[in-house]
Amino acid sequence: MTVIDLRSDTVTQPTPAMREAMANAPVGDDVYGEDPTINRLQEEAAAMLGKEAALFVTSGTQGNLTCVLSHCARGEEMILAKESHIFKYEVASAAAYGGVQPNTLDLRPDGTMDLDSIRRAIRGVNAHFPVSRLICVENTQGGAWGAPLSADYINSVAAIAHDHDMKLHIDGARLFNASAALRTPVDQLVKQADSVTFCLSKGLSAPVGSIVAGSKEFIQRAHKVRKSLGGGMRQAGILAAAGLIALREMTQWERLQEDHDNARALAEGLAQIPYIDIDLTRVRTNMIFFALKADAPITVEQLSAGLKQQSVLANPYSSMDRQMRMVTHYWFKRDQIEQVLDAVHTVITGTAQPNPSL
Ligand SMILES: *Cc1c(COP(=O)(O)O)cnc(C)c1O
Repeated sequence: MTVIDLRSDTVTQPTPAMREAMANAPVGDDVYGEDPTINRLQEEAAAMLGKEAALFVTSGTQGNLTCVLSHCARGEEMILAKESHIFKYEVASAAAYGGVQPNTLDLRPDGTMDLDSIRRAIRGVNAHFPVSRLICVENTQGGAWGAPLSADYINSVAAIAHDHDMKLHIDGARLFNASAALRTPVDQLVKQADSVTFCLSKGLSAPVGSIVAGSKEFIQRAHKVRKSLGGGMRQAGILAAAGLIALREMTQWERLQEDHDNARALAEGLAQIPYIDIDLTRVRTNMIFFALKADAPITVEQLSAGLKQQSVLANPYSSMDRQMRMVTHYWFKRDQIEQVLDAVHTVITGTAQPNPSL
């Protein structure tokens, strides 16, 4: 039985077109700026985002760190959400390597930070205070169930940043999912941002890599920071070739909308299964979160282990809150939804789901 992997959209394998492009990619030494495939990817990515320049980096984590270190000096502060990837899941790299202090705010269920809370978090002029240098937002916001942030909201945050001589960074690991969900072109979502990152290796299915974009002057600085972080690669056009296919063929709204529609259908099915608690109004893109009710006969760890035996992979998200996460992606197809629902039903209740089509 083929394994259905819903742990994340990072599990996506490269497409056949990507493998072919990788095999045939013209390459050169990128540290000398001589890899034509990387140069092409950077130009096309910058053009799509409406930015002057872009930089290919090894991962989303390296991209975010490169941006934070390019914006902030040691002892300066960045404002971001407690639930943000940069704060929660990047090994405190901004603090460890850049001496940058995070000033964290709560997220609201829609994935936004309250604008007045942001204003309040910005330091005034006082000998005791660090300099507030950067605001980071995440789009889609993984900590808020993959909520997409609108261009209006982002522009409001940018205006606050720029009014205070600060910069705005967008961690757009799943930026194209936000664009598809909102039907807003990506360049509109990042127009006011001073730097942006997005992942080629998540829903866009490339095997490796992320993009950093911004002004020419910013990318020149970021280029040096990337080198210092060990991100100066050589004939990495092999990887960029897959990234180009990801950009050209995997970013269409219709393509990503399939993943969002599958997430919704899966969530609606899960809502019918005993002991599952799921808020369907929070399903906005390709991520779903659900909880096992307090009286459920099993724990989320047992559910995850039981699903694995049924060839379905999904990770617990919070043991304390009995939450599970599932993420849809290119390699998860509509006709696999029933199989996942049957598996969940069987593991939770010990009996197979009655099939309404019989
Ligand atoms: C995955 C992710 C990253 C980091 O990407 P890696 O390539 O795994 O380092 C950063 N931000 C968000 C919101 C992500 O989901």
